[in-house]
Amino acid sequence: MVLPNSTIGVFGSGQLGRMFAIEARKMGYRVHTFSPDTDTPTGQVADLETSAAYEDLDAVRKFAQTVDVVTFEFENVPSKTVAAAAEFVAVYPRGEILHTTQNRLREKTFLARNGFPHAPFRHIKIVDDLYRAAREIGLPAVLKTAGFGYDGKGQQKLRALGEIDSAFEKLNGSEAVLEAFVEFEKEVSVVCARDRQGNFTHYGVIENAHENHILDVSFAPASVPEKVFAEAVEIARRVAETLDYVGTLCVEFFLTKDETLLINELAPRPHNSGHLTFDACVTSQFEQQLRAVCGLPLGATEFYKPSAMANLLGDIWESGPPDWAAALADPRVKLHLYGKAEPRAGRKMGHLTAVAETAPEAVALVRAARANLVRKA
Ligand code: AMP
Repeated sequence: MVLPNSTIGVFGSGQLGRMFAIEARKMGYRVHTFSPDTDTPTGQVADLETSAAYEDLDAVRKFAQTVDVVTFEFENVPSKTVAAAAEFVAVYPRGEILHTTQNRLREKTFLARNGFPHAPFRHIKIVDDLYRAAREIGLPAVLKTAGFGYDGKGQQKLRALGEIDSAFEKLNGSEAVLEAFVEFEKEVSVVCARDRQGNFTHYGVIENAHENHILDVSFAPASVPEKVFAEAVEIARRVAETLDYVGTLCVEFFLTKDETLLINELAPRPHNSGHLTFDACVTSQFEQQLRAVCGLPLGATEFYKPSAMANLLGDIWESGPPDWAAALADPRVKLHLYGKAEPRAGRKMGHLTAVAETAPEAVALVRAARANLVRKA
């Protein structure tokens, strides 16, 4: 067990690490973050910030010797970085899980081999693979690079065979997967956690709305039939068990019109759709991650009330500095900012949360608060 006053190492230094560090500090832990950057969202609230390349394995080994356990908040930490840290200290979730989930092909192969529901996909290495896959799966379909993809980056929608050559060119030699386009009714996620003894907790089903492939608004509980709710949680539990997972995990699903759940993606870490747990639940997804990686018992996941979260992207800054006071005019609205200096379009700068008697009311609160942030000309 890693007890309070010990030091937790975190690979990655974004907002997920920041919120994790805040929870860790609340419980008396120290945090040491490692990433190539400086003055980062995590570094600002951590005790120590190492700025070095993930490929600098000497720096990684040095870092690992200053901490009592290692976790990560950034999914694309190279496997050899995690392996170098693991020479000195336990890493949770295991590096092998990171290796599987950081590559779409490996992740989808894992889902297929273990009988988890997912959209049909094919491995694309040469342009002929793409022609064959398009014929077998049908169009429209989505071409995704296998590695380093998130928030719709590295994705192209293919509508006709005539688009194949140029889409393949754009891959620039990267390995890819072609995935059937899913006419989903809605997108939902299950954020859950598993400890070293195999105990499992979850936050039920969260409903997610995306804008331009980036998460925009989440709310809980999702508006889905009980049967779908139970099935989504059961699938998440089986994924966590199959991976022998330790930590917080998010399983993202498409829900089709005929109420079929298909796994879109796994995130081996706290997830944007679970940010509402910070204000709405007895134990947040970040505290749960902390408890799991430290070998402490997991906390209760119940919601005090239905809740919603709206992301704040850099685009909001385009019309001038946001009007924070106007956004907080309703006392039920909470503000989370990540300490990022430069607001770029599409960059996640923070989020708003609210609790209310019903989830739609909470959604209305965060949407209205976000609209009030934007200065009127
Ligand atoms: P991803 O980075 O794969 O999670 O994709 C980001 C978003 O793009 C998803 O949340 C969906 O809104 C959309 N998307 C991705 N793959 C598909 C698909 N196969 N069919 C329909 N929409 C998709």
